[in-house]
Amino acid sequence: AMDTKTVQAMDSAHYIHSFTDHADLATRGARVMTHADGIYVWDSEGKKILDGMSGLWCVNAGYGRKEIADAAYQQMMTLPYYNSFFQTTNIPAAKLAAKLASLAPSVGDRSFNHVFYSSSGSESNDTNVRMVRRYWDLLGQPQRKTIIGRINGYHGSTMAGASLGGMSGMHAQGDLPIPNITHIEQPYFFENGLPGESEADFGIRAAGWLETKILELGADKVAAFIGEPVQGAGGVIIPPSTYWPEIQRIVDKYGILLISDEVICAFGRLGHWFAYEKFGYKPDLVTFAKGVTSGYVPLGGVMVGNRVADVLIEKGGEFNHGYTYSGHPVACAVALANLELMERENLVGRVKDDIGPYLAKRFAELNNHPLVGLAETCGFAAGLVLVKDKATGECFDSSLGVGMICRGHCFGNGLIMRAVGDRMIIAPPLIMTHAQIDEMMALILRCLDLTAADLKQ
Ligand code: PLP
Repeated sequence: AMDTKTVQAMDSAHYIHSFTDHADLATRGARVMTHADGIYVWDSEGKKILDGMSGLWCVNAGYGRKEIADAAYQQMMTLPYYNSFFQTTNIPAAKLAAKLASLAPSVGDRSFNHVFYSSSGSESNDTNVRMVRRYWDLLGQPQRKTIIGRINGYHGSTMAGASLGGMSGMHAQGDLPIPNITHIEQPYFFENGLPGESEADFGIRAAGWLETKILELGADKVAAFIGEPVQGAGGVIIPPSTYWPEIQRIVDKYGILLISDEVICAFGRLGHWFAYEKFGYKPDLVTFAKGVTSGYVPLGGVMVGNRVADVLIEKGGEFNHGYTYSGHPVACAVALANLELMERENLVGRVKDDIGPYLAKRFAELNNHPLVGLAETCGFAAGLVLVKDKATGECFDSSLGVGMICRGHCFGNGLIMRAVGDRMIIAPPLIMTHAQIDEMMALILRCLDLTAADLKQ
């Protein structure tokens, strides 16, 4: 064991963190996390913290699951690595592909019998870009290159991932987006709904922005539309129920591919194995990562629907694409153990019928708090907006950093809750009991009160 100050000094001297202002970090020192169990993590000062974010939306099965660790150990001792290039495979990769195909529901004429593996969500979305372009090339329509994403969407940090995403701060660094990627506005009713407009009408109008963009570009230039079922990193933005069916109508009308980025939303987060089922649309490609292994080891991939797979496999010849760790046997063995555990404990069903509705009921109570403009949940993800004036929904001046003040109180009181501007979000492990949800809600309320008190001073 090392004392906190030694780790912080070493960290600060040598480690470039993701999404971190290092000048700021150097003055505070990084929080050193040392161990975890269930829904809690502990830092090097012995502080116990309720992890309301499941790490980065990934530890769906909770921490400390021995059967997942055992699966990694067994596989490492049997076959720790082999590649899947040049016509080789391994048993866990083949078994997991079949398992994922069995979990992905068929919708209408779409079925999912194939998987392409990567090690992350970002790599999977880069794969999507290459696969979509390959698909249209093979169909003799190489001019169909443009992929449409959404402002405030998040699809990863690689050149293509950050380009597909619509985070202006990311585009500003590295000359993004790369060519042939463009964006439409997000379906965020709280911010973009018009006075007097119903949420249902807004959903149709927001989906219509896709049709406008397709017509502006020329339908024969558009390859695909990509979206998260519920935007995660953007702030748990839950679209109106009318949104996705209308998106489906539009992509069908113009024959363009639909990519559902379910890196956060799959594997139970929204109460389904795959979230397109919840919203009733038919994607051609589904990005996954995170929850497939509950984050215990890196694994991502793309579920390739029959529309694309039939062309790629039957007409395609060799697809010149792949990663050293595609189909990594240890990652796939861990995923199989994680999915088995999730099935045995009915974690997906609990979100749909038990803890999801309970969280929704408890979260709705937050709408009575003077600082909360809107509190809403979808499955086991939730967001609330901190507002200056509850009656009008007027927001705080962003320079006040109210979300960050609230986040600070949460951490001080033993809760990890994320701030996206002034939208506070949570996505806890799917193993929570009702009593633990009550414990979390008490912490949230206390932190809202402390934030309100700070603002009065
Ligand atoms: N897509 C979505 C929807 C995500 O939320 C994320 C990460 O949060 C990614 C892609 C990128 O995944 P990774 O960080 O594993 O590259």
